[in-house]
Amino acid sequence: MTIKEQIENLRDELRQHNYNYYVLDNPTISDYEFDMKLKALQKLEADHPEFYDANSPTLRVGGEVTKNFNTVVHEHRMYSLDNSYSKEDLEDWEKRIKKLVDGDIQYTCELKYDGASMNLTYENGKLLRAVTRGDGVQGDEVTTNVKTIRSVPLQLKGDYPGKFDIRGEIILPLEGFNKMNEARVAEGEEPYRNPRNTASGSLKLQDSAEVAKRPLECFLYSIKGSNLSFSTQFEGLEKARAWGFKVPNEAKLVNSIDEILDYVNHWDTERHNLPYEIDGVVIKVNNLYQQEELGFTAKAPRWAMAYKFKAEQVSTTLNHISYQVGRTGAITPVANLEPVLLAGTIVKRASLHNADQIEKLDIREGDEVYVEKGGEIIPKIVGVDLSKRPNDSLPTSYITHCPECGTELIRKEGEAQHYCPNDLGCSPQIIGRIQHYISRKAMDIEGLGGETVALLVNEALISNCSDLYELTVEKVIPLERMAEKSAENLINGIEASKQIPFERVLFALGIRYVGETVAKKLAKHYKTIDAIMAASLEDLVAVDEIGEKIAESVVDFFQSEASTNIIERLKSFGVQLQLSEEALANQTDTLKGKSFVVSGVFETVSRNELKKLIEDNGGKVGSSISSKTSYVVAGDKMGPSKRTKAEQLGIPIITEQEFLAFLE
Ligand code: AMP
Ligand code: ZN
Repeated sequence: MTIKEQIENLRDELRQHNYNYYVLDNPTISDYEFDMKLKALQKLEADHPEFYDANSPTLRVGGEVTKNFNTVVHEHRMYSLDNSYSKEDLEDWEKRIKKLVDGDIQYTCELKYDGASMNLTYENGKLLRAVTRGDGVQGDEVTTNVKTIRSVPLQLKGDYPGKFDIRGEIILPLEGFNKMNEARVAEGEEPYRNPRNTASGSLKLQDSAEVAKRPLECFLYSIKGSNLSFSTQFEGLEKARAWGFKVPNEAKLVNSIDEILDYVNHWDTERHNLPYEIDGVVIKVNNLYQQEELGFTAKAPRWAMAYKFKAEQVSTTLNHISYQVGRTGAITPVANLEPVLLAGTIVKRASLHNADQIEKLDIREGDEVYVEKGGEIIPKIVGVDLSKRPNDSLPTSYITHCPECGTELIRKEGEAQHYCPNDLGCSPQIIGRIQHYISRKAMDIEGLGGETVALLVNEALISNCSDLYELTVEKVIPLERMAEKSAENLINGIEASKQIPFERVLFALGIRYVGETVAKKLAKHYKTIDAIMAASLEDLVAVDEIGEKIAESVVDFFQSEASTNIIERLKSFGVQLQLSEEALANQTDTLKGKSFVVSGVFETVSRNELKKLIEDNGGKVGSSISSKTSYVVAGDKMGPSKRTKAEQLGIPIITEQEFLAFLE
């Protein structure tokens, strides 16, 4: 046998043993024999580096160190899931989706594993890349770390597609988590709080050998790719299993909401017997073609729903109420609690939302309160144990002045929140606005973090976002802990932000109610900041999807002299305050006033490209056919009930080619 053959045989053998052990839970050799074979392979590979393979089983033990994780844009966005808590929620969901798709709907019910989501890319059966969810659009590449997770196959088997993405959850089973904690406590360190955070923290460790020591697992639940050889979610799970992935067996195919509820109820109690944590159930429309028809909202697929188990509750003492000032001046009351263990985490603080909420529940300092943790990160107070109220207790009197700057608070009619109106002089507002300006989804200024912003403001080097552009290396070097290299990075990052496109600058300005989507709409419609500044309230409201509340806020913002000064200065520094030539060239009014519904599978463009084309050319995309629909663009496999509906309403059905011809 040649050396090459020896190496390859050992690799195959070790792969199979890994699979038997970690995926099937059914080892066929002893740990000792396994280690001997692994050592033999390590030696051969070290002596013959010419046969290096990035996916060799020896890499499972880690060793490579990553200093900075690269950011990678996901080919398919990683969405969140909508949540449901009751039968009614599920019934409403079914009603909504039945309007949008034809035929009976089957559902796959799966467990909702509580860990960190991960996207794995495979090419020719080999693991190419592993990327965290990040903000859904882009995440961090953590391939070296993920390779150490033994249940992630590095080489697939069977009839896998040439290239595809597969999604899963990296989790830390309870037994392994507890062992890790015992070891930590024995060494006099603080135990980790919960398996989920520990799993996601592990992925970002720099030393992959450390990751290799942690008993992480990866459960897979969704395959993304083109020309897949299956047409339902359930078959997809079976395929993934056949290719060598770890796919838990608890998934179930059902036909009705009642069956979904049976599944939920079963797992609500049975989950305590699972070796890992789950925080609910995920229900997915089984047919992939129906999934495609249903598509996505801005945040989540329409074809899937999480069902969250009833939140856990504990009671504890509310020590005192403090008040935080946000970037918009909004005041948030915060409950500082006697620390208590809740759903695996120690809770010390909870949001009290606003003055009304405090009054409604009559929450007072010194009370014994009930704290609940649902899906959200910040726990909430849901009630007071009046039997334990101290005799000398006094009702809470809400603050009247800003805790940061002393200005008298205001409360606009119809709004629950109090505000500090001193937006130009109240430091958390000043800092918060600039932090928003530099944030990832806004100007994404590399080399500048939230802490540094606070430092710059406190040192009076900046007081609004336009001041950033006058910073120099010399000015920032005296700051605490600022090395020359970091100072240069900071200045370069600021310089680079001058290339950020207009719609993101508009979002970065932090105008109330102008989120990413609204900023895009406004940028597309008005094209320049000057046009937006000149727009009246009536103008703005006339823009599609811009309501009165947003319009008022935009007008208010630009009426302030401080804002217009900032805009003028940003302009003078060369920040993008209008759409680029390129963006303008791709946009027309050709489809203005027309509304389209897109249905089926297309040949020359993807469904999303088609929708973008419609929007870029001034048209609207609707999700269901109504009398207001101008055209239905029909691809292959358009649903028969959509066709009937369009015909009944007399709405023209056009092909993809006919549509593209409109644009010429
Ligand atoms: P959320 O973060 O609450 O919006 O829930 C969405 C997340 O649930 C996804 O990003 C996944 O990481 C996670 N998840 C866990 N189990 C599943 C599953 N079986 N199917 C889909 N998503 C799941
Ligand atoms: Zn203030």
